Amino acid sequence: MNDKNIIDAVTIKINKYLVDNKGDNSPVVLYKTPDELRGLINIKITEEGIAENTFLELVDLYLKYAVRTGNSQFLNQLYAGFNLPAFIGEIITTVTNTSMYTYEVAPVATVIEQEMIHLMNSYTGYSEGDGIFVTGGSNANLVALFSARNRISPNCRFYGISPNLKLTAFINENAHYSFETAANIIGIGSKSIIKIKSNPDGSMCCKSLEIAIIESIEKGETPFFVGATCGTTLLGAYDSLDEIAIICKKYNLWLHADGSFGGSIILSNTYKAVMNGIELADSFAWNPHKLMNIPLICSVLLFKKKGILESNLTDLNTDYIYH
Ligand SMILES: *Cc1c(COP(=O)(O)O)cnc(C)c1O
Repeated sequence: MNDKNIIDAVTIKINKYLVDNKGDNSPVVLYKTPDELRGLINIKITEEGIAENTFLELVDLYLKYAVRTGNSQFLNQLYAGFNLPAFIGEIITTVTNTSMYTYEVAPVATVIEQEMIHLMNSYTGYSEGDGIFVTGGSNANLVALFSARNRISPNCRFYGISPNLKLTAFINENAHYSFETAANIIGIGSKSIIKIKSNPDGSMCCKSLEIAIIESIEKGETPFFVGATCGTTLLGAYDSLDEIAIICKKYNLWLHADGSFGGSIILSNTYKAVMNGIELADSFAWNPHKLMNIPLICSVLLFKKKGILESNLTDLNTDYIYH
C-alpha cells in the first residue's frame, strides 16, 4: 500500500465514524477496563514495526473503543458536539506542522492568531489589547497569575521573590483548582491563594473579598491578584466583575476573569450581561474548546494592555530566532 491508499482508507473510516456519531445506534462508549483493553488491542511497540493492514486495524480499534465525544448523546458538562470547520482546521494544522514561535515558519498561522485575538478583544472591549493562544484554561490562569506577579514585583523575574514579600491572591471558593497549582508553579505557594466564600448562587461574595484583602494587608502581606470566575465549573456561577473591579482598583490588584468554562457567553446578546465589567479586567481566559465545540485544545488569554506578555520575558538571548 502506498501513502495515498492509506490516506484514502483512513478517510473512509473517519467518514463512517462521523456518520455513526449522528445515528442513534452508536453508543457513546464501549467501556472496557484497562486490562480488557490491553487484551483487545495489541499496543506493544516492537522493533519490527507493523504491517499496513495491522496499522489500519489499529485505527479501527482506536475509534471503536474511544469515547465518542462528537456523538449527539455525549452530554459531558464541559464540551460536546462536532464542528466541521474547526475539525478541518485541526487537520490542516497537523499536516503543515508549523510552530508558532516565529513568523518565518508559521506565516499564515501567525496572522490568523493576530486576527483572532483582535476579534476576540472586540468582544471584551480591550481596544489596546493583546493576547496569546495557550494550551488550556489552566495554563491561561497560570500566565495571568505570573503576569500579575511580574507587575507587582518586576524584579522577581530576575532574582526570584523577595523573602520579605508575602504575595496573596484571592479567588471564589468555587474557583478552578488550577489557581492553586499556578501559585505552586510561580513560587508563591498554594496557601497564598485565599478562598472567598460564595453567595448562595455560587458567585463570590464581594463583601467577604474586601474584608479578606484588608485582613491580608493588616498582616503585612501584599495582595496582588483577584481571580474572578465567569461560569464556575460546578454551578456555572458568574462572579460580579463590575463590583470586583471597584475593589481591585481601590487596592491596586490585578483583576483576572477566568472564563474558561463560561466565557463564551460574551458572544450572546441575550446573556452577556452576566459578564458586565469584563472591559475592566486586566486579563481574561476563554476556552472555545468548551462551549463552542472547537476541538481540544483551543484556549486564549486576552490582556487589556499591550506589552504585558513581552514584559514577562527576561533578557533572553534569542538572537537565533528571526522575528
Ligand atoms: C475547565 C476549566 C478550567 C481549565 O481549563 P482547561 O482547558 O481544562 O485547562 C479553568 N477554569 C474553569 C472555570 C474551568 O471550567
